[in-house]
Amino acid sequence: MRVVILGGGYAGLSCALRLARRAKGRVSVTLVSASPRFVERIRLHEEAAGKKRVSRELSAMVAGTGVTLKIGSITDIDSRGEVHVGGERLPYDRLVVALGSRVDVDAVPGIREHASTLDPTSSAELAARLPAIAARGGRLVVIGGGLTGIEGASELAEAHPGLQVTLLSSGEPGEGFSEAGRAHLRAALGRLGVTLEQGRVRSLQAGAVELQDRTVPFDACLWAGGFVAPEVVRRSGLPVNTRGQLLVDPFLRSLGNVYIYAVGDVGAPVEPPSAMLMGCKTALPMGVHVAESLARAARGQPEEPFDYLDAGFCISLGRRDGLIQVMRQDGAPAKWVFTGRFAAWLKEAVCWGTVAALGAERAGWPLYRWRKTGRALAVGGSLQGARAA
Ligand SMILES: Cc1cc2nc3c(=O)[nH]c(=O)nc-3n(C[C@H](O)[C@H](O)[C@H](O)COP(=O)(O)OP(=O)(O)OC[C@H]3O[C@@H](n4cnc5c(N)ncnc54)[C@H](O)[C@@H]3O)c2cc1C
Repeated sequence: MRVVILGGGYAGLSCALRLARRAKGRVSVTLVSASPRFVERIRLHEEAAGKKRVSRELSAMVAGTGVTLKIGSITDIDSRGEVHVGGERLPYDRLVVALGSRVDVDAVPGIREHASTLDPTSSAELAARLPAIAARGGRLVVIGGGLTGIEGASELAEAHPGLQVTLLSSGEPGEGFSEAGRAHLRAALGRLGVTLEQGRVRSLQAGAVELQDRTVPFDACLWAGGFVAPEVVRRSGLPVNTRGQLLVDPFLRSLGNVYIYAVGDVGAPVEPPSAMLMGCKTALPMGVHVAESLARAARGQPEEPFDYLDAGFCISLGRRDGLIQVMRQDGAPAKWVFTGRFAAWLKEAVCWGTVAALGAERAGWPLYRWRKTGRALAVGGSLQGARAA
């Protein structure tokens, strides 16, 4: 069986590594990535703050596993059995789409021209510009009150004490958290000197955000207003939602073709757990689950539906503070939260743990396992959280 996996991020890589080990000799595994490097997207706000190199060679991460790595951009997904990588056709028996997401730069006019985003190239460019802006006491406006906006604003404010940072959002940052969680966010952002503003953005101009009722000037703007799937996914003709994510059944198979799976940010289950948010905390187990399904299929065994328990959100507020918002099983926030240095330490451990989990997959010590808990299946170890801003 020829399995082609599109995307060398958290979902694609975890799928490739698990499948190559579990179905050795039964399947050929080809991993296609536009970039030769695995990008730790969950650290891109750290990169924007000028702190860390956040990528590593994919070839080293799959070395010795039997995975064939192909570097090239997917230009067409043909659901009849082949994908186009540049000018080349790549046939498959089973396809796993793991192409991730990108910041939605078409949400309002002017983002492409006037704002940075927490995407790899843009983060590095922002990191290069901010020191000079901070040195003259300039203003950075971060737009988006979701988790990436909050992490970005706090990281950049802490890294550049001279910078005037404003976090602009349509609602209160951290909506959906408990009162204790929101109170800690307000206090932490205040301590870092981040000003909170609310308003609905109409457009971005050179040096100013246009709101319904006023303009907010900036020297630099970071747009953190939500994610969409790559355009090539929408062009496939397979069923997608308004964000361009592939609609998938409980087995993570496309509603339009049962031989095509979607994992990570690019997949949107239409049945429970359909409230799954984009995040590496979902991407890693989704990738592993599909690998297990394909290994079962190669042995002639039936597949099992994906199930997943979201333990909560773990966000950084600079390097010395954080917030862990535990979630109840019904999806509502628990009253209590963990904060401060312990939360910052745990978040760092979680970020480190995602890469360690991939290394462990390669070494044959899988960290992601499912265990039966009555009717449900629970997955341990994923507490980090992301939500479209
Ligand atoms: C600043 C920031 C902080 C975050 N923090 C957290 C957090 O704390 N916890 C959490 O759970 N999530 C967090 N997230 C979200 C998380 O990063 C994503 O949900 C996760 O990366 C999704 O994994 P993925 O494998 O689906 O996609 P990705 O990691 O984006 O990988 C996609 C892959 O597809 C490749 N690709 C894309 N298009 C093409 C193409 N046309 N051809 C070939 N290859 C292509 C890319 O090169 C990449 O290898 C954060 C995101 C950001 C930006």
